[in-house]
Amino acid sequence: MVRVGVVAVQGDFLEHMQMLRELSRATPVAVKSTRDLNNVDAIIIPGGESTTIGGLMKVRKLDVVIIDLAERGVPIMGTCAGAILLAKKVVDRVVGETGQPTLGLMNIAVVRNIFGRQRDSFETEIHVEGVGKIRAVFIRAPAVTEAWGEARIRAYVDHPSVGRLGAVAVERNLLAVTFHPELSEGLKIYEYFLNMVKR
Ligand code: GLN
Repeated sequence: MVRVGVVAVQGDFLEHMQMLRELSRATPVAVKSTRDLNNVDAIIIPGGESTTIGGLMKVRKLDVVIIDLAERGVPIMGTCAGAILLAKKVVDRVVGETGQPTLGLMNIAVVRNIFGRQRDSFETEIHVEGVGKIRAVFIRAPAVTEAWGEARIRAYVDHPSVGRLGAVAVERNLLAVTFHPELSEGLKIYEYFLNMVKR
């Protein structure tokens, strides 16, 4: 069994835990304090509000432990707000530099709220390299606008007004997903993520 710690301070961690329960090889663990990170094989940082999740992770010192585990090769998937928290460069489409606390682990730049406000949320089909076609739900989503070093963009979304933007990026043991895999049918992204866990 793969023990997957799901950061449970704000956002839709319950949906991620529910999806993981559908996979026979994963056990979800709610991560509220550093103690909960003992013995996890992988970590998910959910969608929600990245300023809130980042702030609470810092207060609870989860950030320090997660950075350490990431550096030791533990796979980490950040979805939507979680993807923002993985990025080294973060700007908001409207306010620019946010100065918010992040983990700064991945060599990617993300733009928050790039598609606009809540009402500009949408669902579409995208193709993820190594995963295939999936339905993706974008809720006040960010996009990956740059990847350097070992980071690679593995999926794009074509948006009628904003254009073609990065939706999935991978760098070694780190996976940034700008949409909400926990809200669509299908577990392909989870399978892909769990395959990153070394046995
Ligand atoms: N817009 C949110 C942020 O910037 C992310 C939204 C989400 O996770 N669905 O933090």
